[in-house]
Amino acid sequence: MILKSLSFAAAASHVAFAASVTIDPNLAGCKALEKIGKTQVHYPIDEVVDIINVISEQNVPFALKSGGHAQNVGFSSTEGIQIALKNFNSVEYDPVTNLATIGTGQLWESVYAGLEPHGVSVNGGRVSGVGVGGFVLGGGYSWLTNQIGLTSDRVVEYEIVLYTGEILKVNREYHPDLFFGLKGGGNNFGIVTKVTLEAHQQGQVYGGQIFISKDSLSKANTAISNWDKNKNDPKSSIGVTYGYAPGQGLFAELLLFYDGPTPPKGVFDEILAIPSAKSSVFSRSYTDLVLSVNGSATDGVRGYYRGISLKEYPVVLLESIANYTETLGKEAESHSLASLVVAVEPFLKNINSHDTYGPSAFPHPADGYLSPANFIPTWTDEKEDSYFYDLTKKFSDAITFNADALGQNISHAIIYNNYANADVPHERIYGDNIDKIADIKKRYGVDRVSHLTGGFIVGKSVGKSGNW
Ligand SMILES: Cc1cc2nc3c(=O)[nH]c(=O)nc-3n(C[C@H](O)[C@H](O)[C@H](O)COP(=O)(O)OP(=O)(O)OC[C@H]3O[C@@H](n4cnc5c(N)ncnc54)[C@H](O)[C@@H]3O)c2cc1C
Repeated sequence: MILKSLSFAAAASHVAFAASVTIDPNLAGCKALEKIGKTQVHYPIDEVVDIINVISEQNVPFALKSGGHAQNVGFSSTEGIQIALKNFNSVEYDPVTNLATIGTGQLWESVYAGLEPHGVSVNGGRVSGVGVGGFVLGGGYSWLTNQIGLTSDRVVEYEIVLYTGEILKVNREYHPDLFFGLKGGGNNFGIVTKVTLEAHQQGQVYGGQIFISKDSLSKANTAISNWDKNKNDPKSSIGVTYGYAPGQGLFAELLLFYDGPTPPKGVFDEILAIPSAKSSVFSRSYTDLVLSVNGSATDGVRGYYRGISLKEYPVVLLESIANYTETLGKEAESHSLASLVVAVEPFLKNINSHDTYGPSAFPHPADGYLSPANFIPTWTDEKEDSYFYDLTKKFSDAITFNADALGQNISHAIIYNNYANADVPHERIYGDNIDKIADIKKRYGVDRVSHLTGGFIVGKSVGKSGNW
């Protein structure tokens, strides 16, 4: 049931605001919200304040949903009140400051489309369907990470409704402690309604997908590994997915990106020489590239994320990922497997040196390069939930073991929170920052209410795994 919703469009294009609250009428949250007693409010941020006050008074569980792409149960889903931010969808660009202010309920492809007429863009999501809120508050690995770091490194200001109901503008000057906390600290502090990001000039880009069948996988492993070893052009980036699906068997998919209409000779030559079954790599707009990869393709099936961190991609490690994908994928076919994929993201080793606005709650020091890798099973039968939990854990543990055997020393490394499974101890998410985050939460009085929501909530016990 939609309890209330209001939107109004301001004169400028791409500016529309509203909060809408969707709840199940049979659950406690419904009764709690009756307390507000209003059907319409004119300043949506005040509406968020009303809702958070009710949540606080009534101790009702709640969740915040921007794009809803989190894969852990109870992170943006809830049996209590879900605050869906989809109408916080402003995209405003100021050419004088070269800053873009974006509503957190927006999806990245719409942000890019909104900025494109100005000839600029921001450092955000790589595929379609991903929300601004969860992405930016977790960190955010983008196509431009090799050039300008994580998305959170490019944020200059947040607008937030704290879990106390107080509205704050947070930047380097005002509330610098919270500014640190919001860069990678997720939903520990409150509901972020807007973020202001540095913009950059954005012209045509080169990129797209290459689909590789099993026959060419060994050539692909060599090319990917060589690219990882030799990469040095920050305008280039790749994403690699090893996959297994019933009826399709083992395959790999490569996403290529170059920030310019044509990559210089040598950047992708070995990769482009891999015999591919299908390829759609060409010069296009940034928005078009992002829209060309459907990030909602697995909607409607069960699934979860289990991220790890790696440092290098030698051929032998890529081979072990491919071999396990095939062996475990085959085994899982009789257990309602939809697909088993592993995404690896080799970045330049200096991606953590772009934190112009200071350190972040997500530890990524300049000398602490880690590359996120993500194990993603999808299946259909709810009775198989534990089976897929065990299978994927076995898989990621094996690759962690293999990487350590190759000298990577990653079994205790920080894990990127937007890929981490809910069962990961918070020390692996926030590292040495955990006490600092706890102190900031106490200072702003947000600790108690934060425990009513899911996420990597400092001070709250570690959550249940999976998206079921
Ligand atoms: C297909 C796909 C592609 C992806 N690609 C990338 C990628 O290229 N790079 C990358 O870094 N990550 C990527 N991710 C991971 C992505 O960063 C996370 O799934 C992220 O949580 C998505 O943001 P969201 O707004 O859609 O999340 P939601 O599910 O809406 O929220 C996720 C978490 O953030 C919190 N949150 C959301 N909005 C707010 C808010 N306004 N204020 C406070 N807390 C809030 C929620 O409480 C929840 O804990 C991808 C995920 C998918 C499914």
